[in-house]
Amino acid sequence: MTTIPGKLSDPPAGRPLTAGEPARGPAAQAALPPIMLSRCSACGHHASLSPAACVRCGGQMFDAVAARGHGTVRARSEVWRAPDAFWRAHVPYTLVLVRLDEGPVLMGHASGDIAIGDPVSASVATLAGRQVLAFRRHPPDGSPTPAAD
Ligand SMILES: [Zn+2]
Repeated sequence: MTTIPGKLSDPPAGRPLTAGEPARGPAAQAALPPIMLSRCSACGHHASLSPAACVRCGGQMFDAVAARGHGTVRARSEVWRAPDAFWRAHVPYTLVLVRLDEGPVLMGHASGDIAIGDPVSASVATLAGRQVLAFRRHPPDGSPTPAAD
């Protein structure tokens, strides 16, 4: 089990995640459930939600496909003013926007030393019993970097 320093720990798994949805499932499973995307059947464009029509070609047929879970940090925020009592107990924490290699952008948690432009891999982390999408820096060969602890 790996941890994001001071806050998040890995990972249960379960059924596939809809993009942006917290993971569910038995805590004993260590593998990341796939992050499911919608892929336009006509042009292959990916979307993180279930669109009515493809923004690229207007197609209305989509396939559910698993994202690789790799992407690049496009923005980061250190949160000091949390939205509710649960999250206030965990400030500060870092949220990132990650553009997946497939194109959609997802928000998730990350360690405080993550930077814009870092290559990252998705994982599931647990914060006080809640499962959250988390991103960890990975080297260019694509293998995740073990979290510092
Ligand atoms: Zn399309």
